[in-house]
Amino acid sequence: MAIATINPATGATEREFEPHGPAEIERRIALAHKAFTELKATTFAQRAAWLRRAADLLDAEAEGTARLLVVEMGKPIAQAEAEIRKSAKGLRYYADHAEAFLADEPLADPAAVGASRAWTRYEPLGPVLAVMPWNFPVWQALRFAAPALAAGNTGLLKHASNVPQTALYLDGLFERAGFPVGAFQALLIGSGAVAAVIEDPRVRAVTLTGSEAAGRSVAAAAGAAIKKTVLELGGSDPFIVLPSADLDAAVATAVTARTINNGQSCIAGKRFIVHAEVYEEFSRRFAERIAALTVGDPLDPATEVGPLATRAGRDELAELVQDAVAKGAKVLAGGAVPDREGWFYEPTVLADLSEDARLVQEEAFGPVAALYRAEDAADAARIANQTTFGLSSSVWTNDAEEQDWFVRSLDAGAVFVNGMTVSFPELPFGGVKASGYGRELAAAGIREFTNLKTVWKG
Ligand code: NAP
Repeated sequence: MAIATINPATGATEREFEPHGPAEIERRIALAHKAFTELKATTFAQRAAWLRRAADLLDAEAEGTARLLVVEMGKPIAQAEAEIRKSAKGLRYYADHAEAFLADEPLADPAAVGASRAWTRYEPLGPVLAVMPWNFPVWQALRFAAPALAAGNTGLLKHASNVPQTALYLDGLFERAGFPVGAFQALLIGSGAVAAVIEDPRVRAVTLTGSEAAGRSVAAAAGAAIKKTVLELGGSDPFIVLPSADLDAAVATAVTARTINNGQSCIAGKRFIVHAEVYEEFSRRFAERIAALTVGDPLDPATEVGPLATRAGRDELAELVQDAVAKGAKVLAGGAVPDREGWFYEPTVLADLSEDARLVQEEAFGPVAALYRAEDAADAARIANQTTFGLSSSVWTNDAEEQDWFVRSLDAGAVFVNGMTVSFPELPFGGVKASGYGRELAAAGIREFTNLKTVWKG
């Protein structure tokens, strides 16, 4: 894949970049290594001040950066600006909390281990490689960078090949905020050059957010080099609606959950599993609302759904729908590639999918919802758990016992009750099964890339 900005709303190539060659990659890894020796000698207070300055820069430049996101990956402009504001909040969150999250933990009874004192301390690891996707190109990269830098690690960002200008913006951000030169750098490289970076002994760990296939390949390279990984992979999250739910709220939220970011969110509700008692009403109202969405130019503030980020992604989505329809699925809304330039796809609702439709197992990374009818709560949980993914889930019910039962029964990294899944700096984020392992955000996220060192004193 070329490293280039290709406007998804028009298909026009706006800028192309030469990938970094071996000498430039070496220079950047060496710089990351050198910056680590400087950064680990700084205090939490110093790093927090730099993170706050980076947050201020993000906020001050939000309008221009938002336009860049729109041109590189097609996100509607208001959502692009919201992503940048949220990222600034994430930086401030770790500026406020990193020191407490990584405070020494003394053993209450050191005599039990024959010590006068014993405790654990968290130390940074060194340069960490972050392989990141294009769908939230600022938030995904910064939810890694904020805790990593706050802990005293340095970061090397291999961003998706279709968001190079966003990568370069982030490359400059932390140096402008005061961090040592090389504390956070972009590597303009294709996926084929990732394994060699992982193998480099100066690179201490890897985090990847992306597809299952990319996760397998990065984890294999990291495994061979015995390096820690965090994997945030795909999802096909269930959105479960039961008879006691507030149906107005469930329908309205279902539309947002499925179409936010033009349907390209890992934690989007993708499979809508509805109890038979409310199935007809929910599916009619949901399909009407999906069909009424305004599809168009992502720079137009009135647009609700823009284009898909890449032509390949759009074509893959169209194939998944064709496959489901060929196997008997009913189209309740959309279902086609519109006749216009750019990589658009009509917001779509499918029902009555056969068990062998690819969509039953695979992730629809675009505005395509699949409806499932459940006979009862147990049937809903069975359908919810039948994919290989386990990222997050959303369940709509006002019955307290049913809520608790679903919280226990869903195989997922999170359960949101009467709300759609959202990532918050304050809450750990990550999946189980083929959605990956490890956690980002909150205290769990900053501890992933640290050495939990045990100290024993006789
Ligand atoms: P992708 O194709 O896997 O790309 C993600 C990143 O991995 C890109 O930087 C890509 O580089 C790189 N990459 C791809 N194959 C690789 C390989 N074999 N070795 C090393 N690096 C490789 O995914 P995407 O299409 O950008 O993003 C969509 C996927 O990400 C969806 O499955 C979505 O659910 C998932 N996602 C998960 C989360 C989460 O937090 N769990 C969040 C957002 C997205 P190139 O661009 O150069 O190919």
